[in-house]
Amino acid sequence: MFSPRDVYGVVRPRSAEEVRTVVRAFARAEGGPRLQALSTGRNWGLGSREPARDAVVTLELQALDAVRDLDVEGGWAIVEPGVTQLRLAELLADTDRMLNVTASSGHTSVLGNIADRGVGLRRQRTLDLAGLEVVLPDGELIRVGWWPQGERPGAVNPQGLGPSPLALFTQSDLGIITAGVVRLLPRPEAQCVLRLGFGRDRLTEAVDELRRWTAQGLVSGVLKVYDTVSTRSYGGHGDEYLAHLCVDGTERSVAAVTRVVEEEAARSGLFTRVLRSDEQPPAPDDLVARALERLYAGDPSRNETMLRSAVGEEAELVDAKGGGWLFFLPLIPFTGRAVARSQELLARVHAETGVLAGSTVNALDPDVIDLVVSFRFARTEAGAARAHRALDRTYELFAEAGFHPYRLDSDHHQWVDRLSADPGARDLVRRLKQTIDPRQVIAPGRYA
Ligand SMILES: Cc1cc2nc3c(=O)[nH]c(=O)nc-3n(C[C@H](O)[C@H](O)[C@H](O)COP(=O)(O)OP(=O)(O)OC[C@H]3O[C@@H](n4cnc5c(N)ncnc54)[C@H](O)[C@@H]3O)c2cc1C
Repeated sequence: MFSPRDVYGVVRPRSAEEVRTVVRAFARAEGGPRLQALSTGRNWGLGSREPARDAVVTLELQALDAVRDLDVEGGWAIVEPGVTQLRLAELLADTDRMLNVTASSGHTSVLGNIADRGVGLRRQRTLDLAGLEVVLPDGELIRVGWWPQGERPGAVNPQGLGPSPLALFTQSDLGIITAGVVRLLPRPEAQCVLRLGFGRDRLTEAVDELRRWTAQGLVSGVLKVYDTVSTRSYGGHGDEYLAHLCVDGTERSVAAVTRVVEEEAARSGLFTRVLRSDEQPPAPDDLVARALERLYAGDPSRNETMLRSAVGEEAELVDAKGGGWLFFLPLIPFTGRAVARSQELLARVHAETGVLAGSTVNALDPDVIDLVVSFRFARTEAGAARAHRALDRTYELFAEAGFHPYRLDSDHHQWVDRLSADPGARDLVRRLKQTIDPRQVIAPGRYA
């Protein structure tokens, strides 16, 4: 229920060559509609398939669904936009590699999520990106970043030599992605997920303690902290903040580090309970804890139950019939103070609009948190209007606090200019667009 745009049609090519043909046809037509690419179009919470501008033809690429190559030993796969995370994860089952998967449906696209710079359970998805195959606005097909060459692919080097064009094509209207080289992570030999509860009154100190463990290397992957609203939204248990923390490595290192974390937690006196996935597995109806355990191991097969809990429908029906769902996605410093401030801001949004957001901390590294703020709402006109008002207010309040989003929804593209640190940098990107796409074959997207 973002602003509906004038979409004149949908084109569904079946190969990279057909993408080139479509792009060339649009390049020939002066002043006609412009192309907006998507992969599986499940960008829920950020506008799904809705373009950011009017007068657009959508180019849906889910029929390009080949896994062109897979090198388990080298740690990479070449996939097309229609390849879902579930499919690639299944291909890697029982190998010593795994995919960095997200908490969204298994039926979402690996490349679609990378194109929007999403976040998996192990790290930001852009860190999984080694190379892209891109159709430029004149129909030329190029490969940027790293691509395996023949019999001796060598070691992955996404930046290549000289200025790297790879980053130009994520959150971008400069080209259409038709394939990508995705890095695969070594599969840990053992894993333990700890769940640690704490009360609102200990929030600042508990987050600082979790940050200390992250900085000292006790934590593997993305540490998550759900508030009570977000735990309930995704189908979990708990009446307090709940941290999920993964420890992985060899059997012996996992046993040792898990013990250290338990000791640190006890010593801090901050946590109400510390539960281990091997000794106290989550209850069958604790959908969040059960899904996360698998997700850290690169398996998104339990995500659909979490999705149903969040939006009430299967992936296929979310947009047609699912409950309302909005995301606001800022990066904030990994400090107790910043997390506490974010909770105050959301309480203010609640007081002003009557809409209560859920929030989940995703600690990307010892300094940066991807704070996933979600608004659920009933899909009525009044419910949607209230939720969107709350979202607008959240953008304003968080920006004032210096907490800027790293992804935008289809209604908030004007925030790119508003949040830009330097107009010169924006101008450079506009000059590139003008040079590469003078006829505006590709529609300016959510980040233009
Ligand atoms: C319950 C729930 C949990 C979620 N969990 C996560 C999570 O853990 N992490 C996360 O990141 N997101 C999450 N999401 C948000 C979203 O569902 C995912 O980001 C999803 O992967 C995006 O949909 P998609 O893969 O179909 O990408 P698409 O919708 O196909 O693409 C996303 C955008 O990328 C660009 N794009 C896509 N393909 C191309 C292309 N071929 N060429 C050029 N540009 C392109 C377009 O701008 C497009 O709008 C969640 C959503 C819900 C409802």
